[in-house]
Amino acid sequence: KLFNEVQELKGNIRVHCRIRPFLPGEDQTSTTIEYVGDNGELILANPAKRGNEGNKLFKFNKVLGPSASQDEVFKEIQPLIRSVLDGYNVCIFAYGQTGSGKTYTMTGPENATEKDWGVNYRALNDLFHISRSRRDTVMYEVSVQMIEIYNEQIHDLLSNSGSEKKYPFGSQALNQPNGLAVPDATMHPVHSSSDVIELMRTGFENRSVGATALNERSSRSHSVVTMHIQGVDLKTGVTLRGALHLVDLAGSERVDRSAATGDRLKEAQHINKSLSALGDVIFSLSQKNAHVPYRNSKLTQVLQNSLGGHAKTLMIVQVNPDASSYAETLSTLKFAERVS
Ligand code: ADP
Ligand code: MG
Repeated sequence: KLFNEVQELKGNIRVHCRIRPFLPGEDQTSTTIEYVGDNGELILANPAKRGNEGNKLFKFNKVLGPSASQDEVFKEIQPLIRSVLDGYNVCIFAYGQTGSGKTYTMTGPENATEKDWGVNYRALNDLFHISRSRRDTVMYEVSVQMIEIYNEQIHDLLSNSGSEKKYPFGSQALNQPNGLAVPDATMHPVHSSSDVIELMRTGFENRSVGATALNERSSRSHSVVTMHIQGVDLKTGVTLRGALHLVDLAGSERVDRSAATGDRLKEAQHINKSLSALGDVIFSLSQKNAHVPYRNSKLTQVLQNSLGGHAKTLMIVQVNPDASSYAETLSTLKFAERVS
């Protein structure tokens, strides 16, 4: 596949856009998505304008239409998982307004069957599958961290997982310069996908602790699942390390500043700040700027060593299909265009 060449050319940043299908009960008669092409093109129509007047063309590395399956979405990013085992750091982000399908893409629907599994589960299955297939030549160790960033504060989602295997970041061989720089987040060694699924379940449950409704909270915070990989070449003794960060971002929707007050306003300001900081970092990297402003948000600080350099970044941009989401969809696509 041309993937690696494309990666080099694109400065290791890829942008895929996924359009969520209409959900039962939604008005399917008015959409803003005018055209979806195999070549990564998409036309957004302005419902307030007549004919083609308000049409705007966007081009990404890939556009996944409303009928794309979870499997198709994953197929497009599978080579990235392999590169983690080859020693790369990879970040996969889901960006978009609340309700656009970020969690569906990354995790899957609630009570998903295997066919509906999101990127997370498919990625870790691949990680273990590939590492097993190489077991005669490389010995791999895998550890997991899971954090949430809410109001610019980092919470370790696995700190009370009850796992005896847990140990603090920094105390083991897996403490790596290119890892997830969260000094206080616990690191959990895992040996199979089911170990990880168990941990992720615990972590997602912990997300709701002390918050209002789970959905409410999860749309106002970023969650980061990180798999740290260390492989030792059995012949040469050479060690390589990679990390895969799977990031379900907070909802990108604009909160009406005149209506929002108190906690809600503070949340909105933190989210705006961190999403624009992320956009600025990826933009600087795509421009090959000498200065990359990592320090402007917790998220970019945490991911600093996995954004830029030899790291690979994939932004999956999620949009709603309906005409009433036009303004949000336009702003989402503009964000995506800037970083691609
Ligand atoms: P977000 O995380 O961006 O807020 P969700 O992933 O929770 O959005 O998706 C909102 C709703 O749409 C959920 O009920 C989800 O199951 C549904 N949904 C999202 N994407 C798809 C899809 N590709 N196919 C079917 N249902 C979807
Ligand atoms: Mg979500």
